[in-house]
Amino acid sequence: MHCPFCSDPETKVVDSRLAEEGAAVRRRRECLECGERFTTYETAELTLPSVVKRDGRREEFDAAKLRNSMMRALEKRPVAMESIESALNHIKHWLCTGGEREISSLDIGERVMEELRRMDEVAYVRFASVYRSFQDVNAFREEIERLEKKLAPKC
Ligand SMILES: [Zn+2]
Repeated sequence: MHCPFCSDPETKVVDSRLAEEGAAVRRRRECLECGERFTTYETAELTLPSVVKRDGRREEFDAAKLRNSMMRALEKRPVAMESIESALNHIKHWLCTGGEREISSLDIGERVMEELRRMDEVAYVRFASVYRSFQDVNAFREEIERLEKKLAPKC
């Protein structure tokens, strides 16, 4: 990049180190023309696809919203916080590396269900019941009760 002091295009890196716990690289540069030094930060630019909702509207992917809906499904379930974080990271990684510019909210929902199913069946059913908005609420309630009974620790 050009020197911010004299705009000369020739600068050299005199020091380079990790910053922000490895999420960025901090470089100390020196202008070969005027000798001034300055710092640059380099971070990875990951572009998340935009989300196409059921009604066709588009919105930005909202990680906080995703976390909230997963937390709601996992409420009072015996799942460690780190498992939830790692599931969220799997989903974000999948979104970033998919190479798609757009993704349907349905596809994201299916992926979330996959992660939840791996962690906790009850959370999976809870999420699915909201997400798929099944007509028959009673059928779902029965399914949840069945699972809760099945998964309850035997005394
Ligand atoms: Zn300069």
